[in-house]
Amino acid sequence: MQGHTISIGSSIGLAVFPDDGQSSDILIRNADLALYKAKMEGRGTCRSFEPGMDARLQERRQLESELAQGVANDQFVLHYQPLHDAKTSKLTGFEALVRWNHPRLGLLPPSQFIQLSEEVGVIDSLGEWIMRQACADAAKWPLPVKIAVNLSPAQFKQQGLPLQVASALAASGLLPSRLELEITESVLLAHSEHTIQTLHSLRDLGVSIAMDDFGTGYSSLSYLRSFPFDRIKIDRSFVSLMCESGESRAIVKAVAELGTTLGMTTTAEGVETEDQYRLVRENGCTDVQGWLFGRPMPASELCTLFEQSSALTA
Ligand code: C2E
Ligand code: CA
Ligand code: CA
Repeated sequence: MQGHTISIGSSIGLAVFPDDGQSSDILIRNADLALYKAKMEGRGTCRSFEPGMDARLQERRQLESELAQGVANDQFVLHYQPLHDAKTSKLTGFEALVRWNHPRLGLLPPSQFIQLSEEVGVIDSLGEWIMRQACADAAKWPLPVKIAVNLSPAQFKQQGLPLQVASALAASGLLPSRLELEITESVLLAHSEHTIQTLHSLRDLGVSIAMDDFGTGYSSLSYLRSFPFDRIKIDRSFVSLMCESGESRAIVKAVAELGTTLGMTTTAEGVETEDQYRLVRENGCTDVQGWLFGRPMPASELCTLFEQSSALTA
């Protein structure tokens, strides 16, 4: 069209005779599998056919078709990982982490299905289930224990996210001040103005908002300016290197100081050892999360933790 620039792109799948197929039918089918893989990896790329690709893609296609059914058939479960105050080491809340109780493959971690559920559009219904379940579970916990729920960037594309959160709060009776929503930088990267508005609408409900995995991705400081986050969660990759790397210690300290200046609390993620705990505390983090304090666990196992923590504070 005159006066308009049209950008076109291409993805390429390669299959080569004779190794990748002895007949044109098999060659084209295998080139198509390689093309499917190239598109999955972000388009504009070229992939060669590899033996085993067929089986992996079949598995992926199968999982895709099973996801929606999984939500309808209640196959997902939430595990909860404890969050602690860094100074007092008191239990302050839990982060909800989803698992898929797959009938054929057993308990699957989120790395195996969250991205897939975003790609096939199941994340809206899955995200809604997670929000309702997390709020319902947290409403039974002793005050003032809080709940943190992860939001995927794809959930911000729908208009009804604040309504969905409001409805989960109303149905469970959970006080909004006990709910924290965790987002990553990729949420702000993708669709900024609409996203900022949605974040404000969510905050107007009375919930708090945390910037998750800080330090990975683009780590642009302008994201911290674009919205008054309540919390910064410092990614595990910095915390795990704190003992041996002065650079990691300096980064954690700088982010914790930035948090203090901006009025945001800072959680150190992935604290696994006493030494790491000491260092994150000394460097100013206000909260901690990690295997040292507890792994993600089913809701049924939390009672013991509540009993222990009330015995400690009694
Ligand atoms: P995340 O939000 O950063 O969650 C923390 C992850 O680190 C969890 O992995 C947790 O099990 C793991 N972790 C916590 N402490 C330690 C530690 O001390 N050492 C080590 N090595 N790992 C630790 P998980 O449960 O596999 O979740 C992975 C990611 O999947 C999450 O990262 C989050 O991005 C995503 N995810 C989990 N649940 C949900 C959900 O309900 N909704 C959405 N949208 N994403 C979710
Ligand atoms: Ca998180
Ligand atoms: Ca994180």
